[in-house]
Amino acid sequence: MTLETDICIVGAGPVGLFAVFACGQLGMRCALVDALEEPGGQLTALYPEKPIYDIPSRPVVRADALVDDLMAQAAPYEPRFLFKETTEALVEHADGSFLLTTAGGREVRARALLLAAGAGAFGPNRPPLADIEAYEGHSVFYHVARRERFRDARIAIAGGGDSAVDWALSLAEVAASVTVVHRRERFRAAPDAVVRMRADPRISLRTPYQLAGLEGVPPKLQALQLSRIGGGTERLEADVLIALFGLASNLRPLAGWGLGGNGKTIPVDPITCETARSGVFAIGDVAAYPGKQKLILTGFAEASLAAHAAHARVFPGKPLHFEHSTTRGVPRQAAEAAMLTG
Ligand SMILES: Cc1cc2nc3c(=O)[nH]c(=O)nc-3n(C[C@H](O)[C@H](O)[C@H](O)COP(=O)(O)OP(=O)(O)OC[C@H]3O[C@@H](n4cnc5c(N)ncnc54)[C@H](O)[C@@H]3O)c2cc1C
Repeated sequence: MTLETDICIVGAGPVGLFAVFACGQLGMRCALVDALEEPGGQLTALYPEKPIYDIPSRPVVRADALVDDLMAQAAPYEPRFLFKETTEALVEHADGSFLLTTAGGREVRARALLLAAGAGAFGPNRPPLADIEAYEGHSVFYHVARRERFRDARIAIAGGGDSAVDWALSLAEVAASVTVVHRRERFRAAPDAVVRMRADPRISLRTPYQLAGLEGVPPKLQALQLSRIGGGTERLEADVLIALFGLASNLRPLAGWGLGGNGKTIPVDPITCETARSGVFAIGDVAAYPGKQKLILTGFAEASLAAHAAHARVFPGKPLHFEHSTTRGVPRQAAEAAMLTG
């Protein structure tokens, strides 16, 4: 079923979330598409617990708390979220509306598009193993949602950071076996956790090894081929591979949309944030113009500029009189949400 809305926002990072408020103030409904499974963009994926000091009126705010507050600020405008979806195709119809299709087959029809895509769609860093996609979701995972899912399994964890070490310790409590495969002898994780992992008799280590291949009948994994750095191979029987190599982002899903740019950012008119393509706006880290600062604050201002510019596209011929939020107000739930977060 096609989701009908006024504005389709690509990216539910801080700037995409504030754009819901900015558009909502002007009477426009929004749907947001994000490759991640939760809102917040870089704040959620890269630094949820870090303090941020340069948000006006907030001397200090943790990144995850800022995301919670942006969600509360957007809530009165009832945005529709399509998480775990990456954009795939964009078609413009004769009436000027856009039909956006995601890789998962979802469709959004909107009068205008706001690209708040940051550095691009976030996704896991996949190890370069043949046929790995055929095992994903059944035997190969890039994060652990529920520990119980892996009870009694023979688990191989690949990676050398905090996630790999912490999940090895946690999954050892439920798994039949846990083996950690890392290409270096040293781990880049909290030292006390590394000490506990090395001392845990339920956890085996393969260092310095790297993944070389998968064996099994997809989607069921039977074993991993490992290669030792410096020479030698090994076969490791495993039901599950959890590869924890962090996140990567890229703008490839927006390529071919006629937006110009260098593959890392999209040029916009700094007054309207409109791209080379009429009706498509870019805001936040992805938007480029002379003097651009990649800051949350800058993205918030761009969201307001783009919302005003998009109004003419969504409501052709309808005059837009500038008003402050104190004049316009917000739907009732906004006050309630604001009270909840203090
Ligand atoms: C460690 C660190 C500390 C920082 N500290 C500060 C600070 O103190 N103050 C400050 O102002 N800034 C700071 N920044 C920068 C700040 O995080 C960015 O400016 C901000 O996140 C940009 O927001 P955004 O919404 O434009 O993009 P992002 O936060 O990058 O969000 C973009 C979202 O779009 C999604 N997306 C992209 N393309 C697609 C697609 N095709 N399909 C589906 N989804 C897509 C991505 O998955 C992502 O969730 C920091 C950055 C880092 C890495």
